[in-house]
Amino acid sequence: MTPAEFLRNHPGLVVLTGAGISAASGIPTYRDHEGAWRGATPMQHAAFVTSEDNRRRYWARSAIGWRRIAGARPNDAHRALVGLETAGIVSLVVTQNVDGLHARAGQRNLVELHGSLERVTCLNCGAGESRERVQERLVTSCPALAGLAAEARPDGDATVADDIARGVTPPSCDRCGGILMPDVVFFGGAVPRERVTRVSAALERAPALLIVGSSLVVYSGFRLARQAHAAGRPVAALNLGVTRADEFLSHHWRQDAADALAGALEELRAGEPAQVHPAGIRS
Ligand code: NAD
Repeated sequence: MTPAEFLRNHPGLVVLTGAGISAASGIPTYRDHEGAWRGATPMQHAAFVTSEDNRRRYWARSAIGWRRIAGARPNDAHRALVGLETAGIVSLVVTQNVDGLHARAGQRNLVELHGSLERVTCLNCGAGESRERVQERLVTSCPALAGLAAEARPDGDATVADDIARGVTPPSCDRCGGILMPDVVFFGGAVPRERVTRVSAALERAPALLIVGSSLVVYSGFRLARQAHAAGRPVAALNLGVTRADEFLSHHWRQDAADALAGALEELRAGEPAQVHPAGIRS
């Protein structure tokens, strides 16, 4: 079965995406195709909230990493998912990504499971602030950040030398002076309950789940795949590398997400019979 056939056979399916779908937009993934960690150490929730030094380091790196996220554009895979939603084939996109690219592409039924780097919230009073405004404050506190070219890392992160990071003032809330945190779930943090409830309800109704560009190593994504499988729904993956759900996938297409989704949408629009791809079944 090809991705186009799978989509055609399961109208109303849910799609779960990960870092791989944004790789073609220039944002690095955490893991390579064999599931090996690429080396960047992401911020842990407890480390961020308990230490001002850690927040200083986080914001210094984020000031550089954010430029790449803010400048990234949705690619053909994001756009194809919008087309598949319009065609009534995709009922909901659930993304583990924090880059905001599905929203920028125009996906209407979307759950950003781990939040979005585009928003910043006060941990004390809950006031929100735009990431752009925070960026201005960071660069004002440490002008050396403005022209710095640093190696981009996943998740809006970048490598920044400690002596530069030391010059950064971690932004605090204008209203109450509380700690500002990007509206993302860091490693070790909890996904808000209402997001989990909405996704679980959608999975109950959906005929299938399609994973796109995720190793599913992170538990909050893996458990959705496990829930769909336990409910007797086919779970398929369009992912170049191995996934944590490989043992129960009905199909695993090791294809590039943008090529495969754009091709499938074109095929469905043309109403042509899908071709059986030789590498299609549990490669
Ligand atoms: P991951 O890095 O663990 O896995 C990415 C997967 O995508 C790999 O299995 C890889 O083989 C596959 N892949 C890479 N390029 C592909 C392509 N062109 N087509 C199809 N597949 C491709 O990512 P994950 O499973 O999303 O987990 C990482 C966590 O880190 C997530 O929770 C997410 O919040 C965060 N993260 C987000 C971003 C982002 O927002 N863009 C980037 C890195 C990490």
